[in-house]
Amino acid sequence: MPKITGNLVNAYYVCKRKLWLYAHEIGPDKSHQLLEIGRLYDTSTYKRDKKEITGEGMKIDLLKKREGELLVGEIKKTSKFELAAKMQLAYYLYSLKEQGIELEGELLVPKERKRERIKLDDPLIRELETSMEEIEAILNNDKPPVAEKVKYCRNCAYNDFCWS
Ligand code: SF4
Repeated sequence: MPKITGNLVNAYYVCKRKLWLYAHEIGPDKSHQLLEIGRLYDTSTYKRDKKEITGEGMKIDLLKKREGELLVGEIKKTSKFELAAKMQLAYYLYSLKEQGIELEGELLVPKERKRERIKLDDPLIRELETSMEEIEAILNNDKPPVAEKVKYCRNCAYNDFCWS
C-alpha cells in the first residue's frame, strides 16, 4: 500500500477517487499541469525564506521566522483548495510533532495576499487522524472509488479518465 504523504492528504480532501488514482500512479501523463498537487505551489514570492525540507511523506515549502517564532509555511497558488491545503499542512505539523518538533504553520496564498495561521490543536489532530484512517482504507482497496461529479472535476487531470 502506498504510504501516506502530505500530497495524499491533500488529494483526499479534493476527491477520494483522485487520491486512489494519484497514490497508485494511474492516470494521465504526469506532465499535465494540474496533475501533481505539488505543482500548485507558487514559491517565487518567498525565495528569501525558502528552505525546502523533505522527510518521510513531507515536502515542506519553507520555514520562516515571524517575530522570533519559527513557522512551517505551505505556499499555494490559489485558495480554491483551501481545506485540502490546510490539512496537508496539518499533516506536516503532525509528523513533526511525532518527531518531537512542535511548530505552528502558515498557509500562504501570495497571489491573493492571504495568510492563515494553522495551529495543530486537538480538534485538528482528531480530524486528521480520522482522515488518515480513511485514506488507508481507500488505498487498501483494489479499485478506486467510483467517479462522482465534484466541483473540481472540470479542471482535474483525470477528467477524461473518469468521464469519457
Ligand atoms: S475527474 Fe472528478 S471524479 Fe475524477 S478524479 Fe478528478 S475530481 Fe475525482
